[in-house]
Amino acid sequence: MKNLLGGKGAGLAEMNRLGIPVPPGFTITTEVCTYYYEHGQSYPPELDAQLREAVAHVEKLVGSKFGDASDPLLVSVRSGARVSMPGMMDTVLNLGLNDTIVEGLAQKIKAASGSPRFAWDSYRRFVQMYGDVVLGLKPESKTEADPFEALLEKKKEARGVHLDTELDEKALRELVAEFKAEIKKRKGRDFPDDPWEQLRGAIGAVFGSWENHRAVTYRQMYNIPSSWGTAVSVQAMVFGNQGDDCATGVAFTRDPSTGERRFFGEYLVNAQGEDVVAGIRTPQPINNASKRQPDEKSLEELMPAAYADLVRTYERLEKHYRDMQDIEFTIAKGKLWMLQTRTGKRTAKAMVRIAVEMVKEGMIDADEAVLRADAGKLDELLHPMLDPSAPKKIIARGLPASPGAAVGKVVFHADEAVAEAQKGERVVLVRVETSPEDIHGMTAAQGILTARGGMTSHAAVVARGMGKCCVAGVSAINVDYGKAQMSVNVDGKVVVVKRGDVLSLDGGKGEVILGAVPMSAPALDEDYAQLMKWVDERRRLKVRTNADTPTDAQTARNYGAEGIGLCRTEHMFFAEDKILAVRQMILADSVGERRRALDKILPMQQKDFVGIFKAMDGLPVTIRLLDPPLHEFLPTEDAQIAVVAEELGVKPDVVRARVAALHESNPMLGHRGCRLAITNPEIYETQVRAIIQAAVEVKRAGVDVQPEIMIPIIGHERELAIMRALVIKAADAALADAREKIAYTVGTMIELPRACMVADKLAAEADFFSFGTNDLTQTTLGVSRDDAARFLGDYVKRGIYPVDPFVAIDQEGLGALMRIGVDKGRSAKPKLKIGICGEHGGEPSSVAFCHSLGFDYVSCSPFRVPIARLAAAQAALKDR
Ligand code: PEP
Ligand code: MG
Repeated sequence: MKNLLGGKGAGLAEMNRLGIPVPPGFTITTEVCTYYYEHGQSYPPELDAQLREAVAHVEKLVGSKFGDASDPLLVSVRSGARVSMPGMMDTVLNLGLNDTIVEGLAQKIKAASGSPRFAWDSYRRFVQMYGDVVLGLKPESKTEADPFEALLEKKKEARGVHLDTELDEKALRELVAEFKAEIKKRKGRDFPDDPWEQLRGAIGAVFGSWENHRAVTYRQMYNIPSSWGTAVSVQAMVFGNQGDDCATGVAFTRDPSTGERRFFGEYLVNAQGEDVVAGIRTPQPINNASKRQPDEKSLEELMPAAYADLVRTYERLEKHYRDMQDIEFTIAKGKLWMLQTRTGKRTAKAMVRIAVEMVKEGMIDADEAVLRADAGKLDELLHPMLDPSAPKKIIARGLPASPGAAVGKVVFHADEAVAEAQKGERVVLVRVETSPEDIHGMTAAQGILTARGGMTSHAAVVARGMGKCCVAGVSAINVDYGKAQMSVNVDGKVVVVKRGDVLSLDGGKGEVILGAVPMSAPALDEDYAQLMKWVDERRRLKVRTNADTPTDAQTARNYGAEGIGLCRTEHMFFAEDKILAVRQMILADSVGERRRALDKILPMQQKDFVGIFKAMDGLPVTIRLLDPPLHEFLPTEDAQIAVVAEELGVKPDVVRARVAALHESNPMLGHRGCRLAITNPEIYETQVRAIIQAAVEVKRAGVDVQPEIMIPIIGHERELAIMRALVIKAADAALADAREKIAYTVGTMIELPRACMVADKLAAEADFFSFGTNDLTQTTLGVSRDDAARFLGDYVKRGIYPVDPFVAIDQEGLGALMRIGVDKGRSAKPKLKIGICGEHGGEPSSVAFCHSLGFDYVSCSPFRVPIARLAAAQAALKDR
């Protein structure tokens, strides 16, 4: 029903069905919106007749007539998408008035011994809203005040009053005329007098608002397809602005911020809905329990009977929907009317608490609690966040590459980040893009901001691994390392941020904010533990982590990781204390020289592995042998070159020449992964020895060690056969030297389309497959993962891909290849262990897809482990 009627329309229809008082009305479905956009913004031919019929029906129920001067029916026209998009689209209230009808309405009220002021108040509101929403009279610049509000303010000033409720009928009459004159002057058109024209205009404006900037941005943020469209609900007005026995308000059936079971809301006496949100008058607490000041007057005190009705109604609604509701209501002359009920938006903390408590209350079962939890939202619980209520000056937006928040002084260099951090400063590292050379700076920084790079760029992957906030690909910023500043154009004005200025980042939203925003810390409570217990009882997929350090491994284990699915050994190579030996190894021009360098590296690698094996005692650890192209490790600065030259005993120019010789035009498709070991086997031999010696060491210390050695960038079964033989030979030699027996396995990454197509042959040489969907996406789509951010955003905006394919698996294209890989692999080896270690392994829809393909596990960055666990449980439940 929601798909057709929108959330609002469906809620109204359902409340009506339950016998809860709802103003009579009807809903124009989302299909009409879709039609509207598919047919050059025109309506289906049958709409007009249906509209007249529906209005006639409402007239009959209410007993007054639309457009009738003696007893007019006024309506509200409101938007309502399938999922709520609060404040994103438009609404028009009090529609159906003109200069004649307002007089009729005033007479009718007078006859019922009411105040005619109310008729003029409604008319004033109508002309203002219609003028804004439908006729488009809005401020023309950021600095201009709302033209209607400006006139209203002027009027209040002239009359010496503070509140709009204090303006008398005469003032309101004048305002209506002034509003209309302003519309005529600035928009060059007369305010429409014909109520039918008004109605059609308002409906068109609501449909039009589906494509307004706010709505489009909101949809992008929450992946809401533009094809869904909005519905339009037209309802008879009930008036909260008829005097002091009237009110309007909004409320939540439980606290949306903490999840506490308490009725919570705000209202205003003698007001219409928009006043509550507009903040002109301060709304009052709905009940005594939520009073903050003693002089506040709650609805419970002021209108006890209506309040009691409201309580009965909200309890019924919560029971009916079995979820926390966000409600809107109006009290007209003491009678309660419900204007809206919808599932209330809530923080992650409230989400967990409400679900767990509703199970305890018997309202839902544990399956439902698991199914309802929003996996993406769990993120909020695991990272510190910016205080959502604090004011923010957003200066730019980029990709929400790694959630969490950061506040700190801006630095533009990794070394500076470290130096400042050592002084106890909090810093935000700003780079055009990051490279492995920036790791130390990233570690030292609170958060990372890059001008380039996508969701799987170096900055994004590393930051997520660290659980550190990162906003990537903020193409609007201009980074000038030379001047140590960045600049960005904000509404036509250039804002310059210098080294030392403070920025805040919201990695969950991709926002760059000027100045310091207060933060709130994450807290995992008993409710979270209970929910995750239910989660683990329901999932089939195992969840591992991508971790390269003992700290990351431990963090992931605390979050429930069941092993390591990807340990990228190159990250160890970049460590400050190892890089010199690594450079020597690469630049060596004989096998002997290379072996000497490797002999220095071996004990250091071994130490790294010992730490990780210990952290993962009793769990499998997949270690991937070196992957990136060698040039990434090479020195670029003169000082670095000099050090390496000295160590190698050659002139700096010799080193420069060797560096130049290693240059590749397309390193992502170049000499990387197993290709390195085809030409230089001694690198992998050394790594394998380090792994096995570390395993021996920890085993002797009582650790249950389960090494899995993984080969990257395999495309051909011959490559894998050679690698497998190499690994087994090196491993068995190391074991023989140590006189130990340790079971280990050898597997392959599946990162190339060819690997999927020959997966049966690869399976013969592999104990396991791990899908590297970062590279597999890059190679299948032919889209460079490092350059994608420049254009993929537009692809998503234009609906070519519904979501960035580096974020969520492109199930139709990439997914088809993955299916072939799984089917072929298992056809050769039915029990073949299969996992995923690309960034998709922590993304809910991709986790569900891996479940459907029969994977054994997913592997993701430490902070996404709980999300993957939840997504896996939801996939299993949906399978039942
Ligand atoms: C992958 O390609 O998916 C993968 C995990 O490897 P990397 O990101 O290190 O290339
Ligand atoms: Mg890869």
